[in-house]
Amino acid sequence: MAKKRAPGAPLRLDNEKQLLKHYYAGQRMESPMGGYLMLLGLRHGEDGDSIGIFECSASSLRYELVIPKATRTERKKVKDALDEGEDPDCPRHGHGTRLVRAGRDLVCMSCGVAYAKAS
Ligand SMILES: [Zn+2]
Repeated sequence: MAKKRAPGAPLRLDNEKQLLKHYYAGQRMESPMGGYLMLLGLRHGEDGDSIGIFECSASSLRYELVIPKATRTERKKVKDALDEGEDPDCPRHGHGTRLVRAGRDLVCMSCGVAYAKAS
């Protein structure tokens, strides 16, 4: 028997790393239930992580995927671009996914991750 959980509480996925690769590449993410995962929204996790909430197209079950906070390397890449006077792209989503100002941070709207402080 599956453990009891709060109604509507999202499930965790086993292959997060692989799914994240697909997510950053903008590719379809397969759900363990045979459908694919559709992004419902992003919320803040702990310590700067972001959490994507996904719904399975086949089962309508909800899953959450932890999107890890920016690494030192990613922050440096973005800071270097800012220092060059460029509009930085998301280091994970790549070219064309601009970071946008959200409060005091520069954030990717697809990751929900802050990569730099807004100047
Ligand atoms: Zn991104």
